[in-house]
Amino acid sequence: MMENLNDEIMSIYAERLQALHAKMDQAAHAAGRNPQAIQLLAVSKAHDAETVRAVYSAGQRAFGENYVQEAIQKQAELQDLAIDWHFIGPIQSNKTQVIAQHFAWVHGVDRLKIAQRLSHARQAIAQPLNICLQVNVSGEASKSGVAPDEVLSLALQVRDLPYLHLRGLMAIPEPTPDITLQARQFARLRELQQTLIQHGFALDTLSMGMSDDFAMAIAEGSTMVRIGSAIFGARPAKQIVLPN
Ligand SMILES: *Cc1c(COP(=O)(O)O)cnc(C)c1O
Repeated sequence: MMENLNDEIMSIYAERLQALHAKMDQAAHAAGRNPQAIQLLAVSKAHDAETVRAVYSAGQRAFGENYVQEAIQKQAELQDLAIDWHFIGPIQSNKTQVIAQHFAWVHGVDRLKIAQRLSHARQAIAQPLNICLQVNVSGEASKSGVAPDEVLSLALQVRDLPYLHLRGLMAIPEPTPDITLQARQFARLRELQQTLIQHGFALDTLSMGMSDDFAMAIAEGSTMVRIGSAIFGARPAKQIVLPN
């Protein structure tokens, strides 16, 4: 019984991943881009370790988490898997040590103090931590992210930190029904990336696009889409066990 159930769950995730990859490929082709240039980060926040294991069994390797405690608990249960863990949530400075030690990537770096602390904490591992600078492309006062006109100066300071590897930029644009405005926010991030590249930065990552807007993000140059609900289903208020 149990095995059949597991098989069934696994095949649901395999189907969802396959459908998602097909849509990502389609968006890439429509934009004249190579689908291979776009990675899928599965955002597993609010879903339990066994669910992550099922999605892993369906072939997914990179997973994103937003909350440190929740992530560490899951990681402990999934130590036998070769997962690339990405931290994509807001970063509190008192959590930098544990984040640097438990993740391969951090997407939400938006100030020098956080970058310095992550670099320092990573020294013990002696392998640079991959980071993206988060940019507030929508200019919302409430949003985290460095202001667009401060990205270059932050990048220049981060470049000097020995245990960080600056891979690119990340944004969470303001959701809007205005698709022109939506596209412009993604385009803005790509333009900022180009500016940094012109200043000599070797960047390969544009972390943008979620379940509802990944096709547009891919059209605008995304190289890493961060997708939760389109893989896992709606996030449960408390805890989930089965996909629907
Ligand atoms: C939750 C989250 C996602 C995934 O959102 P979905 O709409 O479920 O795909 C992506 N990026 C960040 C930063 C998130 O917090």
